[in-house]
Amino acid sequence: MTEDLSEDLSQKLRQLRDAGLAPPVLDSIKRRMRKLERPVNLMEVCGTHTVAISRAGLRQILPPGLRLLSGPGCPVCVTDQQDIDTVIELAKEPGMVLTTFGDMMRVPGSDSALQSEKAAGRDIRVVYSPLDALKVARDLPDRTVMFYAVGFETTVPMVAATLEMAEKQGLSNFWVFSVHKTIPAALEALIHMEGARIDGFILPGHVSTIIGANAYKPVLQGKVPAMVTGFEPLDILRAVDLLLAQLVEGRAEVEIEYTRAVTEEGNPTAQQLMAEFFEPSDPRWRGLGIIPGSGLMLRERHFRHDACRRYDLAAVRSRLPAPNKLMAACSCGEVLKGALLPGDCKLFGRACTPAQPVGPCMVSSEGACAAYYMYERHRQQGG
Ligand code: SF4
Repeated sequence: MTEDLSEDLSQKLRQLRDAGLAPPVLDSIKRRMRKLERPVNLMEVCGTHTVAISRAGLRQILPPGLRLLSGPGCPVCVTDQQDIDTVIELAKEPGMVLTTFGDMMRVPGSDSALQSEKAAGRDIRVVYSPLDALKVARDLPDRTVMFYAVGFETTVPMVAATLEMAEKQGLSNFWVFSVHKTIPAALEALIHMEGARIDGFILPGHVSTIIGANAYKPVLQGKVPAMVTGFEPLDILRAVDLLLAQLVEGRAEVEIEYTRAVTEEGNPTAQQLMAEFFEPSDPRWRGLGIIPGSGLMLRERHFRHDACRRYDLAAVRSRLPAPNKLMAACSCGEVLKGALLPGDCKLFGRACTPAQPVGPCMVSSEGACAAYYMYERHRQQGG
């Protein structure tokens, strides 16, 4: 396994070297770090970036003092424990067919998980898109089919389009339990968080294709340097270099490195579809607490499809179990804030592994703990 990982790392570095691209960017990064003469913490807020950074071994080639922290960019990981427990409880409702993405099946609840409930006979189905869930609702008109909707702005337009289709087809047995979250408000919360040590943000590529770079400006412009970037190792290195340039020049702007996919305005059609079905809510994020305006709930006019309005959630929540001892020791919250690296958690690689995860950051392939476990646990940190 270690040899495979070393080979993977050297292969990536070889590719960059062969393209004649990595050394100039790395040299520039080193020069700027020498000018800054202080430690710098950059945070990525996208699970795909988290995996790309770990897989390519970028931390190991950066100069000392430059740290890449993983933030709340994995939608599975930021889902609050109470929401996970609530959905597990709702899966027990008579006549319920619960549908969700595969990653959510293994996320531990306080005393169960969806996959355990499925094994116990609950009707819980993995779907690859909300349209699959809609098909289940069409096939089973006498059952309630609930889609457990997790994800950021990348996923929401697809869910909104499915709701539009459900309305057109009169499928009132298709319900959505929305724990959707939005990225800009989370960034604002992070920079105001006590002990925050973030000198710049590497902004998500996929989310930004939908919301556009302008969506970040009200919260970041003039406060923290930020760069929208793509997913190739070279994209990420260039974003790091450009963020350091802003720091050297004393600027704090939202810029786009990923110009081949992202614009200032984003995708207005997707934004309109989202706005038709969803409005801002005040959800609880794992590790970050309640962040006003950072979630998306169904608009009241679509209440027929809103599981959160159709159930008495206060009553459901009153019977939720307390987290077990092991789960209480999980540091996912601190990892998501960038306060700890996954390896700093005392359960990492011992009680908590991808085969037996304790927290969601070890479940999702885009979770920071899973990415570190897969690619970085045998490597030395460069910074
Ligand atoms: S290693 Fe496991 S227990 Fe520790 S923070 Fe990560 S997911 Fe939670």
